[in-house]
Amino acid sequence: MGRLRRSRAHHARRDVHRAARTRVRGRDLDQIQLIDLDPKNRAALEAQPLDYERPGLGQHYCVECAKYYETDAALQSHWKSKVHKRRCKALKEPAYTIEDAERAAGLGKEGKRPASTLISAEPMPIDENVVT
Ligand SMILES: [Zn+2]
Repeated sequence: MGRLRRSRAHHARRDVHRAARTRVRGRDLDQIQLIDLDPKNRAALEAQPLDYERPGLGQHYCVECAKYYETDAALQSHWKSKVHKRRCKALKEPAYTIEDAERAAGLGKEGKRPASTLISAEPMPIDENVVT
């Protein structure tokens, strides 16, 4: 007999391992926000030359999601989808910058640590013998 297969055993769990692969890594939100959404770059991305390597010859591209679609209908329905709307909302948030990262690490200018402790700390010695 064996166990009956239950349908829909995995609710919204997508293939996270595949999504984490380098091969399928898309553009990051800050790349899109700071580079792709620039009107000049956006126009270039939306009017790409025919590319036989890309889905739909690279003619149906969603700039916000950095994704190619096979047909115009697919792109239109994507624009109405939840995924795209969620992505647009995420893109409205300010981009995560190097300053944010440094502030999170306590290295920012408005950090609690006074500047004097940073200056007195030993600078990282530059190891010149790494490449020999
Ligand atoms: Zn989209």
